[in-house]
Amino acid sequence: MRRIPSVAVAASLLCSTASSVQGQEQTPDWKQGAVCYEIFVRSFHDSDNDGVGDLRGLIEKLDHVNDGSPASTRDLGATCIWLMPIAASPSYHGYDVTDYYRIEPAYGTNEDFKQLIAEAHQRGIRVLVDLVLNHASSEHPYFKHALLHPDSPYRDWFRFAPGAGGRNEWGTEVWHRSPVRDEYYYGFFWSGMPDLNLRNPAVRAETKRIATFWLRDMGVDGFRLDAIRHLMEEGDQTTNVSANHDFLREFAAHVRSVSPDAFTIGEVYDSIGAVLAYYPDQLDSHFAFEVADSIVSAVRTGSAQGLLAPALRLQRELPAERWSPFLRNHDQTRAMTEFGGDIRRARLAATILLTLPGLPFMYYGEEVGMTGDKPDPRLRTPMHWNRGPAAGFTGGVPWEPLQSDSFLANVEVMDADTASLLHAYRKLIHLRAADAALGGGELVPLEPNHPSLVAYLRRAQDRTVFVIANLAETAISDVRITSGAATLPGGVYSVGGLLGAPAGQPIRVGGNGRIDRYAPVEAIGGLQAWLFELTRR
Ligand code: CA
Repeated sequence: MRRIPSVAVAASLLCSTASSVQGQEQTPDWKQGAVCYEIFVRSFHDSDNDGVGDLRGLIEKLDHVNDGSPASTRDLGATCIWLMPIAASPSYHGYDVTDYYRIEPAYGTNEDFKQLIAEAHQRGIRVLVDLVLNHASSEHPYFKHALLHPDSPYRDWFRFAPGAGGRNEWGTEVWHRSPVRDEYYYGFFWSGMPDLNLRNPAVRAETKRIATFWLRDMGVDGFRLDAIRHLMEEGDQTTNVSANHDFLREFAAHVRSVSPDAFTIGEVYDSIGAVLAYYPDQLDSHFAFEVADSIVSAVRTGSAQGLLAPALRLQRELPAERWSPFLRNHDQTRAMTEFGGDIRRARLAATILLTLPGLPFMYYGEEVGMTGDKPDPRLRTPMHWNRGPAAGFTGGVPWEPLQSDSFLANVEVMDADTASLLHAYRKLIHLRAADAALGGGELVPLEPNHPSLVAYLRRAQDRTVFVIANLAETAISDVRITSGAATLPGGVYSVGGLLGAPAGQPIRVGGNGRIDRYAPVEAIGGLQAWLFELTRR
């Protein structure tokens, strides 16, 4: 497969008059070295003590994400946030929208949102909002009208049929009996979420109006698009049908026409092979679920075998700003729970995630090791800010009980301990932003002599960072690292420790550019990761 270009180049390839852009180097943009932070507003911070997080509460805590001062290291240093749905919705999660043009009243007002945008931009934070176009709420006025009136103008905005038949991947019916007459409507995920009929030109036009509203009137920097592999159906096929790609091509072109710098990222909960069909000319980026699983699984099991394969495949196919690794999101068991509460494993996973290429995302609370397992509300519990009542999330009664470890795993406690997970996240994110190799360098896998070791370089033009991690519980001595040919220019390199790592032994690189049985350190401790910078002598 031909390597997929950046979006700007891809767009120009489609346009016969812009072929001169072809082959030009793209200048680095905000995405290089950036980290995005996923926030569930309901659970982040409550400003008015009704137990529900809100936009004003989020504004009060923006400094935790980024305080706007590059010199300060008391913030995470993330330069982008993704807000889970914030439009009006009857459910706690918000993925069933009743008004696409209005902020959920429990979260605040449209004016509050505009203030959030201003406060975020002041701190150098881009704001992406979740856009749910596969389905609306069964409480949406258009759906209610279509349900009640067979001659409703909104009838063809949804899908009705005389009979049922068909189940989704979780085994539940996708056709739901109408409560008012003898017919069924289609809702892939749930009866409360009737699918929008994106074959209807009026619906497609409406999705564009919604995008324009958020970009122009509300001032967002882009969108995270929900469940896009399910957008349309063809017969019995409910995922990744060709009509999805046509719709996204049209939608993304519209977004670019309104705001050429807007960033779009899609949720295609699928293999890399399936995700690659969503390039080059649709959304900018997609989440790399395979990379997430490879990191979490390696850190959980202690085996580094195959850990880098998904990231290497994506690197071969895509520019780094067009794929997004992460550890876990709001639909998955939290990373700390996957790691059995072992903070060393959480730190190791963070180190690997934040030293790989791609545009990484992290889920709120990961930085303080928040735990959580299904059912879904327990994956989305209130953020732990301090040791106070309700962990500083609210002065009232939290909408959902906190996790039991909030007294220890919180921002206040971890801020006071420079060896904490929170400080590790802060240091890694700041280093990634400042370091050309970590921010934009090529991932070059190395070959360690032990199945629990992973070792790689991030190699940019003038800078190389070397990462080694021991995924086993026990220390490994007699470490030897080998590489393929043409890994580095021949010569001797000094190996300086980064983020508290000791200095390593110098590397001798042969005339063929190969590293041969290099012993970086006497031994590497169990569940330890070290970063080094290489300087050619
Ligand atoms: Ca509130």
